[in-house]
Amino acid sequence: MKITTKTKVIGIFGDPIEHSLSPPMQNAAIKSLGLDMIYIPWHVKPQHLEMALNGVRAMGIRGINLTIPHKERALNYIDSVSDEVGIIGATNTIVNDRGKLVGYNTDGKGLLLALKKEYTFMPKGKKIVIIGAGGAARGIAAAMAAEGATTVIIANRTLGKAESLASEFSLKIRSSTFEGIDLSSEKLSHAFKNAHLLVNASSAGMVGENDLDLPLEQLTKETIVVDIVYKPLITSLLRDAEGLGLRTQGGLDMLACQGEIAFELFTGQSPPVNAMLEALQGEFK
Ligand code: NAP
Repeated sequence: MKITTKTKVIGIFGDPIEHSLSPPMQNAAIKSLGLDMIYIPWHVKPQHLEMALNGVRAMGIRGINLTIPHKERALNYIDSVSDEVGIIGATNTIVNDRGKLVGYNTDGKGLLLALKKEYTFMPKGKKIVIIGAGGAARGIAAAMAAEGATTVIIANRTLGKAESLASEFSLKIRSSTFEGIDLSSEKLSHAFKNAHLLVNASSAGMVGENDLDLPLEQLTKETIVVDIVYKPLITSLLRDAEGLGLRTQGGLDMLACQGEIAFELFTGQSPPVNAMLEALQGEFK
């Protein structure tokens, strides 16, 4: 591509940054639409985050995605946040609106979009079980509740984190019921009964991590099982759920959809969905 003084710049900050799949995905979208734009990965250490975000303002960079470990601390250095960021307490997409940095969070919305596309799934009136109580689980729980889920159960290895997230969200979002439980088989069996959606939003099942041991037989054929882990593409949770005849979705769909939402925030243009998903899939060949 030809870079000129008019080329708009977007990108991502992270530490580490080498693992990020956003550059190939977003640059494929830019290329597909023929935009005069480039998406650059920057290795930004935590102690330099404030300087880097000031650099975004100073250099007129149009927008920035944030990955580990910047999603929460960045809130100290930006000008305003969207409603969902106010609830979640973390941002992964910052738009530079004429010098003012506005924080969004596309993680939970990305999963909602992916489930709507594949299964026309809508959370309204549904019971959702989420494994994990970290950043991704927060975004997903908030998005499900914002779309009218009746009950959101947060099941986590460390019970205290699940309980404190459930009580925090109970105060912030009055329209849904939140409950925090541990990963014991008894508690999970009870939670799985009548669940419409099970999401693994923990790191369990990732390359190098242990697999989850879940009482999947308690789920019904109506339940959709999502694993947001995408390394490996097919986790043992997805394999087990498929073996029981349940509907499943892997983490690449959410990754593509959260990227689509970020692309639209950065460019104001409808994202070229196929080009983005193909670029991601290409990274796994
Ligand atoms: P995080 O904030 O570090 O939270 C990690 C969560 O996983 C915690 O609740 C932790 O439990 C739990 N956990 C870690 N190892 C575990 C294990 N071996 N067994 C059971 N629970 C375990 O991480 P995050 O940002 O939420 O990300 C979680 C996962 O989602 C990562 O694999 C990440 O790559 C993936 N992710 C995917 C997408 C996507 O678009 N597909 C987006 C975001 C994240 P404790 O509280 O007990 O430590």
